[in-house]
Amino acid sequence: MAAFGQLANLSSQVGLEGKAPKLVAPLVKDSKADIVRRALQLGVSIQETYSCYQGEELPCGLCDSCRLRDRALCEVGRPDLATQIGRSIYNLETGASH
Ligand SMILES: [Zn+2]
Repeated sequence: MAAFGQLANLSSQVGLEGKAPKLVAPLVKDSKADIVRRALQLGVSIQETYSCYQGEELPCGLCDSCRLRDRALCEVGRPDLATQIGRSIYNLETGASH
């Protein structure tokens, strides 16, 4: 990310003038579970969010994006917000009962 910021500074007029916007990614070092915890603390309606590579109306629960999201939701104790498929895979993987 630092390299990208440097490139943006060197390759744009505002960057060369020292007026480039600062590039920030505040969540980049957080785990998915950390991000979910923060979203819940902030009152984000997670049930209305979506993260799936398939691009269908409903999340597939099987792609990498769904798996990471569902695993994080299960880890923070909110399996009810995960997809049903993701929940059952998580339970199989961990032997969890919920
Ligand atoms: Zn998916």
